[in-house]
Amino acid sequence: MPIRNRFAELHPEITAWRRDLHENPELQYDLPRTAGLVADKLRAFGCDRVVEGIGRTGVVALIEGKTNRSGKTIAFRADMDALPIFEASGVPHASKTPGKMHACGHDGHTAMLLGAAQYLAETRNFDGTVAVVFQPAEEGGAGAEAMVQDGLIETFGISEIYGLHNSPLLPEGHFAIRPGAFYAAVDSFHINVTGKGGHAARPNNTVDTTLAASAIVMALQSVVSRNTDPQQAVVVSVTSFRTESDAFNVIPEHATLRGTVRSFDMEVRAAVLERINTIARLTPESYGATAVFGFDEEPYPVMSNHEAETEHCIKAALEVAGDCTTDAPRTTGGEDFAYMLQACPGAYIQLGIGKRPGLHHPEYDFNDDVIPTGCSYWVSLAEQRLAV
Ligand SMILES: [Zn+2]
Ligand SMILES: [Zn+2]
Repeated sequence: MPIRNRFAELHPEITAWRRDLHENPELQYDLPRTAGLVADKLRAFGCDRVVEGIGRTGVVALIEGKTNRSGKTIAFRADMDALPIFEASGVPHASKTPGKMHACGHDGHTAMLLGAAQYLAETRNFDGTVAVVFQPAEEGGAGAEAMVQDGLIETFGISEIYGLHNSPLLPEGHFAIRPGAFYAAVDSFHINVTGKGGHAARPNNTVDTTLAASAIVMALQSVVSRNTDPQQAVVVSVTSFRTESDAFNVIPEHATLRGTVRSFDMEVRAAVLERINTIARLTPESYGATAVFGFDEEPYPVMSNHEAETEHCIKAALEVAGDCTTDAPRTTGGEDFAYMLQACPGAYIQLGIGKRPGLHHPEYDFNDDVIPTGCSYWVSLAEQRLAV
């Protein structure tokens, strides 16, 4: 069965929810309107249980099938949070809050899972229980970890968990997945460099912090090129360089560098971080400066799809779309669904939305044409995994 007819009927309504979410973006855990709207709709659909406040502002609803001989509960997860970006899409439903924007399509994920929940609550053509999980703080803040620590998996007896993300790199309505490592581990670091400030006209009386910090930036580029196995994918990016002064005639005393590391292997990751630490400490010494290395945001682990559950996703995608890429390239992006996959078997699939501005771009907008495909995928996965 491809797209379900019911989703052709529901398409305008689900599109309206999606655009409403897009107009009203909220960040991280601070989702009073979004989480409230999600919980209200789930209750209106007649879900058997709706629980708010899991992982601070996450929402979980249980939908029971017409039978429960399997005694199994499988979970589908959508993320609800937006990004601190000024929207430049120019669409009629653009963000009404300057500086906040649904630039990663989590509005689309939330709307599609709501649509699937409505259908599953109407039809209940499955044996067991479906848990729909709406997560806060995917864009930093590790909302998935917060939900897991709050007992998501044990409280609801979840035995499999599945996630989905839209992709502007894939053709509209096309699915892509891979078993094993799929999204990179994410580390964010800072390096605080201290020299001796003074007059820029007399640098010999100072220890030039800017020069020492610049040397660190240059030296860090040797970590991937000279210290890492060429077969291993690793990224080291320095993304911020700040001093306390923006005067042209002052050599500042302090500089702060920030950056990120992306990797797919825990041993490689540890070696890279150790190497960055060494470079950060020793490079400034040769300039007479000192530096301290530290971590910022909580790291996200590698997101690894489980083998059997990846196969289940492929089967559902094939039923809906007729084909599915099964060896999707790994992405150096991060995804905190990694925490859910560490706690429970499961897998995460990409759904193409066709070529448009990339994720996190100020002109990005979710493609509402894929809503019936995304909703049908969730329903197929439910009815296949919990076959009556
Ligand atoms: Zn994102
Ligand atoms: Zn995202």
